[in-house]
Amino acid sequence: MRADHETDVVVIGAGQAGLSSAYFLHRAGLRGGAGFVVLDHGKRAGGAWQYRWPTLRMDRVHGVHDLPGLRLVEVPGSGNPARPAAEVMAAYFEEYERAFDLPVHRPVSVRAVRRTSDGRFLVDTAGETWSARGVVNATGTWDKPFWPYYPGRETFRGRQLHTADYTGPAPFAGAHVVVVGGGTSAVQLLVEIAEVAEGTTWVTRRPPVFHEGEFTPEHGREVVAEVDRRVRSGRPPGSVVGATGLTLTPEVRAAREAGLLVRRPMFERITPHGVRWADGRQQRADVILWATGFRPALDHLAPLRLRGAGSGIRMDGTRVVGVPRLRLVGYGPSASTVGASRAGREAVRGLLAELGR
Ligand SMILES: Cc1cc2nc3c(=O)[nH]c(=O)nc-3n(C[C@H](O)[C@H](O)[C@H](O)COP(=O)(O)OP(=O)(O)OC[C@H]3O[C@@H](n4cnc5c(N)ncnc54)[C@H](O)[C@@H]3O)c2cc1C
Repeated sequence: MRADHETDVVVIGAGQAGLSSAYFLHRAGLRGGAGFVVLDHGKRAGGAWQYRWPTLRMDRVHGVHDLPGLRLVEVPGSGNPARPAAEVMAAYFEEYERAFDLPVHRPVSVRAVRRTSDGRFLVDTAGETWSARGVVNATGTWDKPFWPYYPGRETFRGRQLHTADYTGPAPFAGAHVVVVGGGTSAVQLLVEIAEVAEGTTWVTRRPPVFHEGEFTPEHGREVVAEVDRRVRSGRPPGSVVGATGLTLTPEVRAAREAGLLVRRPMFERITPHGVRWADGRQQRADVILWATGFRPALDHLAPLRLRGAGSGIRMDGTRVVGVPRLRLVGYGPSASTVGASRAGREAVRGLLAELGR
């Protein structure tokens, strides 16, 4: 099958990881069209940040690492801590794409990536097809919310939603909300919903571990090293918060003192009007909010059969072991803004060497 376009490298996704990769491709002298393209299914710049709820303000994010070549503080208005992260990051990415003249095509949804008999990749989108010598995949996790199954889920008469659908606390005024999940998002959402709800119940699989003070760089490196070990051995990357714990910010500390963060173990089943634990206790609920995280959005790579016996993808840095000219950035140890920014450089350097450039 003949592709509609030919290029050297296709980058899939224009979040932090994709833009960092695009920057290094541009710096290496590749240009839009024959050199490389970035295909992104967002309607506008901003990666997954643009979809995050308006109450996630800049002072509530953990800290956003700069993209290479243009610092966030250089973008007007970015220093205001009360501005929504969605707005600030969208403006930053838009400015970044413009400053380096990055060839981002959007909205373009990649449906499948296949290997053709001549060793190239065929990147199939909802519209056109692209033939490429190399692929950098940077599709993040936002498109793959994880909803664990609990018996009775389909019988619940109230509303169920995932973090990915959350738009702010207002719709929960006067409701009883069960928040499921032990990560930072669960805690943040619980705290803001508690201000307007009739009541909240917090359930997690494991008892949450709160830690005092800032998350140190050493601790960060240990967490990244552990995720790196997992993906090097072909296992799925696993949860970062499981390894980092929850930071006791002043807001979280106050919520704890006010009795809002009383955690209960996971319920056994969902009933039409709430949830029930194994010992027979019940909680009435109008809403169940699943703050249960995300998984890597890699369905479009299924034709490449990357998953091995450990059900993960065996990686060496950003390289998929045994698969020439393919890089995964923002995956596993590079799934943070700092990791994604750095991974772009490593991915491009290795890929261009493989392409003989
Ligand atoms: C609520 C929340 C808060 C966070 N806060 C922080 C923080 O404070 N600090 C931090 O370091 N990290 C934070 N993270 C993690 C951080 O957002 C990510 O690690 C990083 O921004 C992800 O960048 P990315 O480029 O890998 O993915 P994304 O930003 O998700 O970008 C992926 C892009 O790929 C596109 N895409 C996906 N599938 C396809 C497809 N099939 N075809 C075409 N395009 C596709 C998407 O539209 C998107 O534009 C947070 C995550 C969440 C969920």
